[in-house]
Amino acid sequence: MNANSDFVKRDLAAVWHPCTQMKDHEWLPLIPIRRGQGVWLEDFDGKRYLDAISSWWVNLFGHANPRINTALGRQLQELEHVILAGFTHQAVVELSERLVKITPPGLTRCFYADNGSSAVEVAVKMSFHYWRNCGKTQKTRFITLTNSYHGETLGALAVGNVALYKETYRPLLMDVISVTSPDCYAREAGESWESHTRKMFAHMERALEQHHDQVCAVIIEPLVQCAGNMRMYHPVYLELLREACDRYGVHLIADEIAAGFGRTGTLFACEQAGIAPDFMLLSKGLTGGYLPLSVVVTREEIYQAFYDDYATLRAFLHSHSYTGNALACRAALATLDIFRDDDVIAQNRALAAHMGRSVVQLADHPQVAEVRQHGMILAMEMVKNKHKRQPYPWQERRGLTVYQHALQRGVLLRPVGNVVYFMPPYIIKESEIELMARVAAEGIDLATREA
Ligand SMILES: *Cc1c(COP(=O)(O)O)cnc(C)c1O
Repeated sequence: MNANSDFVKRDLAAVWHPCTQMKDHEWLPLIPIRRGQGVWLEDFDGKRYLDAISSWWVNLFGHANPRINTALGRQLQELEHVILAGFTHQAVVELSERLVKITPPGLTRCFYADNGSSAVEVAVKMSFHYWRNCGKTQKTRFITLTNSYHGETLGALAVGNVALYKETYRPLLMDVISVTSPDCYAREAGESWESHTRKMFAHMERALEQHHDQVCAVIIEPLVQCAGNMRMYHPVYLELLREACDRYGVHLIADEIAAGFGRTGTLFACEQAGIAPDFMLLSKGLTGGYLPLSVVVTREEIYQAFYDDYATLRAFLHSHSYTGNALACRAALATLDIFRDDDVIAQNRALAAHMGRSVVQLADHPQVAEVRQHGMILAMEMVKNKHKRQPYPWQERRGLTVYQHALQRGVLLRPVGNVVYFMPPYIIKESEIELMARVAAEGIDLATREA
């Protein structure tokens, strides 16, 4: 028995994997990873895989990054963790100061949790509770976009809209107001992203006009609906939404958990519309892909609405055991140091352009409906009929063929449905981009070969 299969056997006897039909592993090999270095992962048999999806969109500067490793080593000698209620520590103070500095103007307060879904729960509860503290107890509802994704806990699942994850649990979920997404894949042939996006805002305007009295907040993923098949839209939507939320007295929650930290071409996606949300949610890339941490950054006025004598019971009593974990905060600080010291956003612009060039021929592929890109996220949508944009039935699992082919060729691609995408660490080299593109093109050919 080789080293891989020994681990796989032990794993399958004891581990239940996320987002997985475990029966698939009767024929789909599980891959035990022994070490990571830069963009590469290595299994126990010594086979290497280029991590083209940043290990579920979290890694920014490579595995075993020397700068983050060093910072964590030092932190480990000082303090691993301490309760954040009644106590504080250097890393969380520094991180909060720096987040306030780099996020859009007006965001002054950081509330921590330990994963993206929990940050969504925090923002939903905080928005509702803010309005309650202001005497607006009729505000109990949330507006969300179709095809949106905000995580898997019950509150996050309720404000999300991907049927595959949501449908089963519907009886457990709060009711939300669902507005048609500005998703530009749905635009008319020849129409610009901007024009389609503007047009789709009419749905949001109508929902706000009709329901604003009962609505606490609109929650959106700025620019890219990542888990919803990497669908994209124009920044003008955020501009229009900011203005409308102000006009109707409704909060704007920007879920930048996937889009933040340089993914879409700017440090935060909201920058492309020049707006500041009332709540900005960050996780995933926040620690460079090292440790679980999330944060809700919000405005002073919201903080002040909770600030009162204890007996008024206006405080926000939410907590998680690992809130503000010192190691995770240190990893986040080391990640922000890299953004500060290297010209990451400018370098990403060059890498993004190279990614675009590397798959330019796929736009003409008879089974690829669209190649779309926002910065360091590039997606290719496989379809049964390009002219009619008719999707392949999900049961055919065409994306899985791409996944399997890529693994064989030493690249980790993990399509969402029929959409193959690249979301690599920012330290990827041009030659590695070309490898990733070549393997994706082969995989798409293979997956779409028979009708
Ligand atoms: C991944 C993701 C979440 C959930 O984060 P978890 O850490 O997986 O709970 C929420 N919103 C968006 C936009 C995401 O991509």
